[in-house]
Amino acid sequence: MATLQIENVSKHFGSVKAIDNLSLTVEGPELIALLGPSGCGKTTLLRMIAGFISATKGTIRIGDRDVTNVPPNHRNTGMIFQSYALFPHMTVGENVGFGLEMRKIAKAERHRLVKEALSLVHLDGFEDRYPKQMSGGQRQRVAIARALVIRPDVFLLDEPLSNLDAVLRQSVGNEIRALQQRLGLTSVFVTHDQKEALMLADRLVVMKAGRIIQTGSGSDVYNRPNSRFVANFLGKSNFFNGWHSQKDGFDTQSGLKLKCPGTDAALGDASLLSVRPESIRLGPDASSFTNSFEGKVERITYLGSLTEVEVRLTEDDLITVQMQNRPENIFKADIGSSVIAGWATNSAHLIIDQGE
Ligand code: ATP
Repeated sequence: MATLQIENVSKHFGSVKAIDNLSLTVEGPELIALLGPSGCGKTTLLRMIAGFISATKGTIRIGDRDVTNVPPNHRNTGMIFQSYALFPHMTVGENVGFGLEMRKIAKAERHRLVKEALSLVHLDGFEDRYPKQMSGGQRQRVAIARALVIRPDVFLLDEPLSNLDAVLRQSVGNEIRALQQRLGLTSVFVTHDQKEALMLADRLVVMKAGRIIQTGSGSDVYNRPNSRFVANFLGKSNFFNGWHSQKDGFDTQSGLKLKCPGTDAALGDASLLSVRPESIRLGPDASSFTNSFEGKVERITYLGSLTEVEVRLTEDDLITVQMQNRPENIFKADIGSSVIAGWATNSAHLIIDQGE
């Protein structure tokens, strides 16, 4: 169980700063998800940890070893890819045993370790098949066995679920998580899918333009985003522009007086108040909340398990509300009708504007 330490690392491709002075520590047996929009530098960072890309600046340590200038095959990392990257002309057994052969492990021991690794991913007896004779989910499990058979200090996963259908994504994702926990692996998982990150990771690392914008547990980052960017990246939110007017008060530019949880933010700071759509209630009962306003229904969208309703509170404030569809809870109002929208003080989260 090794600690991975990335210290002030940058990677420049010509004038592009793919990674910009980034520091991050991953303590074993933690699984972190690198999350962020396309081009934010997730893959570059992962490949730098593996050693496929060299850092322009900074230090990477695995355990007490400085591996910044160590070639990939001597870093003891195991990596899996979106495309599985199996050798098509080799059998499953040869694919899984490849890293052991490179390390000059004797044949009998290799055979035993390959069998054990295939058993870990529930592919006992598949040694003699070729990758083309297997399904996508099975191929990815072979790739997992190949990465784990060398007992890596750090397990690296580059969007490993994106080529799988929704059902397999869930089951292979669960398998990866169970193995990572059972073997106590320090792991870094790259994804641009926020649901996948929330489902699998102990900690999310949200990136933008080569830098870390926020790290924290899924619920921390979802419920207490530090910027509009993070709040939007992890789902939908309603934002009110305004300023923090009292310890627990927020005045919007549009003239609403809202309650927010007490914070240490300086009074008068220009900021945003974020309220998630599922925290807002609609209907007469909503008038009992500390924040409650009358509005007009502008749009109703049925989404299967949810109904999404857009309600206009003021000329500037069109809020989105999400309600679970339960038989006792069907939303009956018509478009254009008046409705009360309400939410509790502690459902709101104050974001001090940092220009993100
Ligand atoms: P995606 O989710 O689309 O895979 P990403 O977050 O993994 O994106 P990277 O692939 O790490 O992003 O790319 C980060 C930035 O570095 C991008 O602007 C990309 O165009 C640039 N980049 C990556 N590799 C190279 C390269 N070999 N040469 C030049 N620029 C590169």
